[in-house]
Amino acid sequence: MPRGILVTGGATGIGLAIARYFAECGDTVVITGRRAAPLEEAAKETGAHAVVCDHTEPAALLRLLPELPDRLDILVNNAGGNTDFYAPGGDDLIAYARDFRANLDANLLTAALTTRAVDARLADGGAVIHIGSIAADKGAGSYGAAKAGLASWNIDLAGLLGPRGITANVVSPGYIADTEFFRDRLTADRRADLVAATAVGRPGVPEDVAGAVAFLASPAARNITGQVLHVNGGEIRTR
Ligand code: NDP
Repeated sequence: MPRGILVTGGATGIGLAIARYFAECGDTVVITGRRAAPLEEAAKETGAHAVVCDHTEPAALLRLLPELPDRLDILVNNAGGNTDFYAPGGDDLIAYARDFRANLDANLLTAALTTRAVDARLADGGAVIHIGSIAADKGAGSYGAAKAGLASWNIDLAGLLGPRGITANVVSPGYIADTEFFRDRLTADRRADLVAATAVGRPGVPEDVAGAVAFLASPAARNITGQVLHVNGGEIRTR
């Protein structure tokens, strides 16, 4: 039976690779994002149902609900990014608060609000998977703090969803090429440093992250919950 899947931010980069994977499995996939044009293109390519939705907005999430399958087997909270790359900035405390909140909204609130909005639709035995970041462990201002908060919040979520057989995990990527994440901010030197910091000597690609999501969504991973799965080519190594 096809699974019902929601991939937030599914029009580009990592989200698109995840949506493509599930679509190729024959699942019923819904993708979201704020911009209609990339969504339409991704929908054409994957066959996913595309819906414009800003996941920081409760009203937008309520409008999304009728567009979703009645039974949601897998929720992938992928929407996010480092809002500091395009924050207006400024020296005063008001500007600092605005820009800090933007990262919390984009990376933490999106996942919490979306999970809450679809909670009643989550199928017993399903999976919630968030896309975190290596920034949670390396630090990256409010972006790293938001991704660390996401992993912390997930600890609680795993406990809440566990009795329904639903797992909740974070996939935490290192540097992943071929996405819109860095906009025009990644210099050749910085990119070379990021690759040199890995054990495998190559940048990650969106399909690396999609592979980890596929595993956590699979029957093989039903006893794995409340975890962070690192996909960073060995940039950060654990015991
Ligand atoms: P992209 O910028 O290509 O993808 C992010 C997607 O999220 C876009 O399609 C964007 O679409 C959507 N999005 C962002 N904010 C919202 C929102 N409020 N509501 C709905 N959709 C939203 O970059 P990536 O694929 O790299 O990023 C995917 C995830 O991976 C992010 O959470 C990012 O933080 C994380 N990540 C990426 C890494 C990398 O090196 N690339 C490393 C570690 C983590 P739109 O703008 O149209 O809304």
